[in-house]
Amino acid sequence: MKRSRIRKISNKHERELIRRGKLRMELADKYGEHCMTCKDENRDWRGISLSHIIPLSRGGKTTKRNCLLECYPCHEKYEKRPELRR
Ligand SMILES: [Zn+2]
Repeated sequence: MKRSRIRKISNKHERELIRRGKLRMELADKYGEHCMTCKDENRDWRGISLSHIIPLSRGGKTTKRNCLLECYPCHEKYEKRPELRR
């Protein structure tokens, strides 16, 4: 019982990771490996990651409309305070 429950969650998590990877590639293809928020002004050695405009914890989804490529400083800033986004 317990085992199948864990399995279900990890499958869901895996699908989410695959979706993120695909979306990241798609966005990088279209816009290049740049921070879409600060145009690389705040970018550091950690590079670019996929950010959610509305965080998953607030009901956001991993879709093209809800995702951006961002540098880590921007990602961290808006992850803590998504209300700063316009
Ligand atoms: Zn940035």
